[in-house]
Amino acid sequence: MSGPLQVTVLGATGSIGLSTLDVIARHPDRYQAFALTAFSRVAELHQLCCRHRPRYAVVGDTDKARELQRRLDSDSIKTRVLVGEGGLSEVAAHPEADVVMAAIVGAAGLRPTLAAVQASKRVLLANKEALVMSGALFMQALRDSEAVLLPIDSEHNAIFQCLPSNYSQGLSGIGVRRILLTASGGPFRQLPLDQLAAVTADQACAHPNWSMGRKISVDSASMMNKGLELIEACWLFDARPEQVEVVIHPQSVIHSMVDYVDGSVLAQLGNPDMRTPIAHALAWPERIDSGVSALDLLKTGRLDFEAPDQQRFPCLRIARQAAQEGGTAPAMLNAANEVAVDAFLSGRIRFTEIASIIEDVLALEASVPARCLADVLSADARARTAAARWLQDRDC
Ligand code: NAD
Ligand code: MG
Repeated sequence: MSGPLQVTVLGATGSIGLSTLDVIARHPDRYQAFALTAFSRVAELHQLCCRHRPRYAVVGDTDKARELQRRLDSDSIKTRVLVGEGGLSEVAAHPEADVVMAAIVGAAGLRPTLAAVQASKRVLLANKEALVMSGALFMQALRDSEAVLLPIDSEHNAIFQCLPSNYSQGLSGIGVRRILLTASGGPFRQLPLDQLAAVTADQACAHPNWSMGRKISVDSASMMNKGLELIEACWLFDARPEQVEVVIHPQSVIHSMVDYVDGSVLAQLGNPDMRTPIAHALAWPERIDSGVSALDLLKTGRLDFEAPDQQRFPCLRIARQAAQEGGTAPAMLNAANEVAVDAFLSGRIRFTEIASIIEDVLALEASVPARCLADVLSADARARTAAARWLQDRDC
């Protein structure tokens, strides 16, 4: 009998990484951590290695790798420490890894996630930025390999659960009218508009329903997260942008819906806890305990819906435009957003300037086809340079 599935967790110290390890630890007979990665948090990664005893650990630079290896050696833990992007791709594509959780935040996750796809792994995709940047190439790599891609983003996981297994034939072939992508509206859904410019990073990160990393929390507050998810949904489910409608649902109990031509609307519901989609994707097509409590509908009481306010959430409009343009536009959108969010989190710009930076960067050049990874990476670099220049000009 074969042993537990070997799981590489890219971004193990993050919010999704820790939730993944929580689910894995509930099922030691089924799953074993094979490799755990972090960028800089050596102390946290050390603790995770002590608990989960992976074969490999990966950190961002050689100094940190030396420090982690020294700590592990002195605890007589046999984990071998690797470094940088090469190390990430090695553990993502390692012949003995069965499952790869792609949970690095941002563009940094692209290469290792692609490496996992090319190596035909079961890839659990949380790192939406990777797909947004390189959707066409990513999906082609998936078709060229025997990889299985399972969405972790709660909305896409919900949509996946509401679609029949032959959905890759195309949405019209399976009678889908539209995808209803739900959004909580974040912490500023009802804030008076004239106060938006003065919100702090901590206020933006205080999400009403979900506990997440800081970058995605800001994206949720600006609704760029929903914009990125719209693009993600188009790639995953072969939808056109106009087939994906965003609906604000403040309770975050319905995680998304599929509207069929016969008038049926299928929804997936649950408590807002990422261990549900993680457990779903780990065990699919089976079901396992995730540690998430049963949904108490009586306590939930009501489910509300509203249309997103275009004035409050300009990022949603900008992302939809980038989705329609295609080519390199989504990669530039993502890169400009990463720079803008970073600048907001470090107190350099106001919340409302995030959308201005992205819109100005995208206006600089027309989208061109993204034929290869170099096209994507070069668009990403150009957008980062333009966003950095925007920030410099602002400070002058
Ligand atoms: P996080 O900030 O909590 O964790 C990010 C992880 O990525 C950390 O382990 C960090 O060490 C690693 N990392 C950061 N920069 C890196 C770099 N340059 N090189 C290598 N590793 C690096 O983020 P998170 O909230 O866990 O989100 C991770 C991904 O999952 C994001 O793409 C996010 O959009 C997506 N996602 C998260 C949630 C959620 O509930 N947190 C939900 C849906 C999707
Ligand atoms: Mg989501």
